[in-house]
Amino acid sequence: MKRLKNKIAVITGAGRGIGRATAIKFAREGAQVVIAEYDTGSGKATESEILRKGQSAEFIAVDVSDESSVNHLFDDIGNRYGRVDVLVNNAGILQDSTLKKLEPEQFDRVISVNLRGVYLCTRRAGDLMREQGSGVILNASSVVAHYGNFGQTNYVAAKAGVIGMTKVWARELGKDGIRVNAVAPGFIATDMTAGIPEKILTMMAEKVPLKRMGDPEDIANAYCFLASDEARYINGAVLNVDGGVVV
Ligand code: NAP
Repeated sequence: MKRLKNKIAVITGAGRGIGRATAIKFAREGAQVVIAEYDTGSGKATESEILRKGQSAEFIAVDVSDESSVNHLFDDIGNRYGRVDVLVNNAGILQDSTLKKLEPEQFDRVISVNLRGVYLCTRRAGDLMREQGSGVILNASSVVAHYGNFGQTNYVAAKAGVIGMTKVWARELGKDGIRVNAVAPGFIATDMTAGIPEKILTMMAEKVPLKRMGDPEDIANAYCFLASDEARYINGAVLNVDGGVVV
């Protein structure tokens, strides 16, 4: 039995990395996937990869930090599908710098994509989900929200904020049949971590009790479980998927 059969699932930032792996996993589990991605090339590539297998996917361009772009995305989804069953707020960026060097523009940009983008998408998906009386919202946090990280004032502020918003929305939306949870990935091998020098990556992997970095599929599997009815009584949770980094 496919776990997400006929669910309309919107995944932001699904052109690459964890978002792409989640789109592929959800489509395999029977979902009709909307690849809500900034970059047309990678968004279309994920779409083709899923369609080639005879599964269902559609790329729609969006900048999650831009209100009118997000409104256009959900107007489009509302008109054509009439519902949204799952929203995965996955899109995220890094602009690392120590406090001493961090410019306000870098602070604002990361907050704008990683925090405001989550709010803008959830606001519109929440309207559709309330109308239908059901839905699942999944937010990308990070292990660094729990313990901070050198050079990541903006990123950690956003990821900790995502946990806060998850808890607020779990309380506000539960009565409408909507579950809201966050996933806090550890060190996952994607383009986001590809820029880190090999020596540091080895050191980071050594700190993980399971002694390896995670794969995007490890996070996709967690999203799939939380999106499915198997998780029907899980609401307001933050699931660490980090090989035991935070225990
Ligand atoms: P990634 O490989 O850098 O992919 C991020 C995706 O988001 C890209 O496809 C990117 O599009 C898209 N995106 C960026 N800004 C966007 C915007 N304004 N609107 C729409 N899409 C946008 O990142 P990842 O490693 O898969 O991470 C995915 C999520 O997990 C992020 O929220 C990240 O913070 C979180 N996370 C990752 C790790 C890790 O170790 N990798 C750990 C903890 C949490 P472009 O191709 O145009 O850039």
